[in-house]
Amino acid sequence: MATQLPSPPKVGMVSLGCPKNLVDSERILTKLRSDGYAMSADYAGADIVLVNTCGFLDSAKEESLEAIGEAIAENGRVIVTGCMGKEAELIRERFPDVLAVTGAHQYEQVVGAVHDAAPVTPSAYLDLVPERDLKLTPRHYSYLKISEGCNHRCSFCIIPSLRGDLVSRRPDAILREAEKLVAAGTKELLVISQDTSAYGVDLRHASYPLKGGGEVRAHMTDLSRELGKLGAWVRLHYVYPYPHVDQVIPLMAEGLVLPYLDIPFQHASPAVLKRMKRPANEAKVLERIKGWRAIAPDIAIRSTFVVGFPGETEEDFQYLLDWLDEAQLDRVGAFRFEPVEGAAANALSNPVHEEVKEERYQRIMEKTAAISAAKLQAKVGKTLDVIIDLVDGDGATGRSKADAPEIDGEVHLRDAGHLQPGDIVQVAIEDADDHDLFGVALSSSNDA
Ligand code: SF4
Repeated sequence: MATQLPSPPKVGMVSLGCPKNLVDSERILTKLRSDGYAMSADYAGADIVLVNTCGFLDSAKEESLEAIGEAIAENGRVIVTGCMGKEAELIRERFPDVLAVTGAHQYEQVVGAVHDAAPVTPSAYLDLVPERDLKLTPRHYSYLKISEGCNHRCSFCIIPSLRGDLVSRRPDAILREAEKLVAAGTKELLVISQDTSAYGVDLRHASYPLKGGGEVRAHMTDLSRELGKLGAWVRLHYVYPYPHVDQVIPLMAEGLVLPYLDIPFQHASPAVLKRMKRPANEAKVLERIKGWRAIAPDIAIRSTFVVGFPGETEEDFQYLLDWLDEAQLDRVGAFRFEPVEGAAANALSNPVHEEVKEERYQRIMEKTAAISAAKLQAKVGKTLDVIIDLVDGDGATGRSKADAPEIDGEVHLRDAGHLQPGDIVQVAIEDADDHDLFGVALSSSNDA
């Protein structure tokens, strides 16, 4: 049976006032859309209604209050934002049922209030960001979404039918957001999208003016270089190995971008990749990985694989295991194939029996745990830069440049009660297990 996807909560918006307010409304809706909300054109279909108010003149205030009253009467679940947010007491007095009142340009607060009032059910099939990470408060690492949608049509995926074709954000807008995040304390930028390598294709890789002069091209390499100049760690996720990815590797060697690539290979067997309709599915990937390691020897490559895809034979699976032996990937996540409602792969012939899927899953996990353990063991005795995520009593937990939050391993530090989340410290690695490292901090610096 195909996995049913949760239906997204719907948000209605009443936007009043000047063009600035309209831009705020657009930003709020864009953020909500990328967080998985759908929009409703009427009160009846909305799970929540946002009223973005104007309080410039008395007549505008009156119009705003009328709009709030109408939304309460028609829907009942209302969040107020915008200029009238200054008059929260007046609003609450007139409309005690209003769920939240936030002020103008407090867009994180209003988005947070929507999340509280109508939470999105997380879905591993749709979300780029791990479930626990859907926080909106500033912190030392931030996800930076560079595009939405996807031009590919992988047979197991329904993202393009839900989110449409690739729409890239302007590089200057991404850089402005990144600058603000870094100014607010972000030490690590996690670049996400459905297909980071395709960034800017829809913009025809045009150039856009930069605030301080010069230009930036809407292209993964150029954007990565500019992000790297901001001084935070820059980590690239969802990269498909198109030929131009080779141009990003020197930026890793230069220290502008973290020596880390998250490439969702999903399989290695050409026959399975063909049935999956995967992009950048070319035979020379192993050679290219060797080339990347020659330029950036510390590069960590993480990937995910699906086992038990329809038609996957024992030979295909063995091909994948042999390929992994060669590729020596640093981090691997594996999934048993599951049909998702609406995916083309559901119609493919020769489904793999559940027991076979399970057996293959255990085999791939065993193989990748052994590779990971050996790779981590080789780090014992080395000194690594580690970003601290959590300080708990005398200990702390952080991540090396090879570890993305939530999905990769951790570095556990002893005698680290003096550290703060967001510190970047040098750590002497003393021990390792299959997935994590253990060590002690040597120094504390924010620009390690
Ligand atoms: S590249 Fe494939 S798996 Fe990824 S979002 Fe696009 S269609 Fe889905």
